[in-house]
Amino acid sequence: MLKCYDCMEEGKDSEAVSICIVCGKGLCMDHSRRMDLPIRGGNYPAPSKMLEKELPRILCNYCIGQTLVDAFD
Ligand SMILES: [Zn+2]
Ligand SMILES: [Zn+2]
Repeated sequence: MLKCYDCMEEGKDSEAVSICIVCGKGLCMDHSRRMDLPIRGGNYPAPSKMLEKELPRILCNYCIGQTLVDAFD
């Protein structure tokens, strides 16, 4: 099974419940963030078009920070 990448970096071992649509890393409940703002293409050649039909828009903390900076720039 996919593990939460952020937990791995903290030395923990958690099962991922979702995947960041931008960078594609696995995320547990604690580390996943829902993104309700529309994500426009441009900076991220992410597979979001492929995934958004099946998955909610989930981003990791890092990517949501980057995306929010872009959205409100
Ligand atoms: Zn985690
Ligand atoms: Zn990410």
